[in-house]
Amino acid sequence: MSRLRVAIQKSGRLSERSLEILRNCGLKFARSKDKLFWYGQDFPLDVLLVRDDDIPRMLLDGVCELGIVGENIAREVMLERNGSDGMTCRRKLGFGHCHLSLAVPENMEISSASELQGLRIATSYPSLTRDLLAKKGISTEIVELSGSVEIAPGLGTAEAIADLVSTGSTLRANHLRELEVLFDSQAALYCTTRSIDDEKQGLLDRFLSRIEGVLQAAESKYVMLHAPREALDKITALLPGVEHPSIMPLEGSDRIAIHAVCGETVFWEHLEALKAVGASAILVLPVEKMLA
Ligand code: ATP
Ligand code: MG
Repeated sequence: MSRLRVAIQKSGRLSERSLEILRNCGLKFARSKDKLFWYGQDFPLDVLLVRDDDIPRMLLDGVCELGIVGENIAREVMLERNGSDGMTCRRKLGFGHCHLSLAVPENMEISSASELQGLRIATSYPSLTRDLLAKKGISTEIVELSGSVEIAPGLGTAEAIADLVSTGSTLRANHLRELEVLFDSQAALYCTTRSIDDEKQGLLDRFLSRIEGVLQAAESKYVMLHAPREALDKITALLPGVEHPSIMPLEGSDRIAIHAVCGETVFWEHLEALKAVGASAILVLPVEKMLA
């Protein structure tokens, strides 16, 4: 019987959330002793726990059909392999946000990336950096480093760096300043584009629809409220991501109950705006599972 394989990061920034998504899809695993391979018990999907850098290569080499990895690494490997079309991004996952940014020493008098023309840039993402700079018409010398990129300007091995930034604290600690964001990244689900047999394709479709359900549920809220019947259009317009709410009459009242699944984040400002057009008894509930 066919089984699918998904590669996720073994230990690092993406590990916990990747596993959480799989668990929320209702998957349970028997862990092998070396913990690098988890056997899926109720659904024929096994997990490979690896270094994040290996995930795109494993997808391209046909070792697994699915992988959760940062777009930064996926793009880097795809470019390294000449824009390989052996894998495709199926879904951004909404975590692991960071940017690949150009940064320069705090005291360097420079205001735009174009001034880096001809200078040396240290990075762990040589292909992606070269590609993004080339698109801006800037040609630089790329100094490839596997880690500790932020110390390169201090050591005199490069004038600037292109590195991943989320809060900017590492840059500040190394007396660097962010010059320009080159690329916005987050974790994403990648899928092989190799042809797979019908049975595997069926499993893949089932898994993808569960993941879609999990992610939609995580983003969604179920909102219930009471409102004057004449405010229905205004209320519908104020509910984020809702087109067709359910409407119910309230016994012995000229008000109605409105129930709706909001597909976008519901903020306090939304609730205050609803109240202002006559809504009352507003409840916002989490959605646990969803299958469209
Ligand atoms: P591995 O041992 O698996 O190779 P790693 O040290 O290369 O781990 P992590 O530091 O865990 O990787 O980062 C994994 C991914 O998390 C990055 O590729 C990126 O997509 C994302 N990420 C989010 N924020 C940051 C950040 N501030 N710095 C680096 N990566 C970040
Ligand atoms: Mg890595």
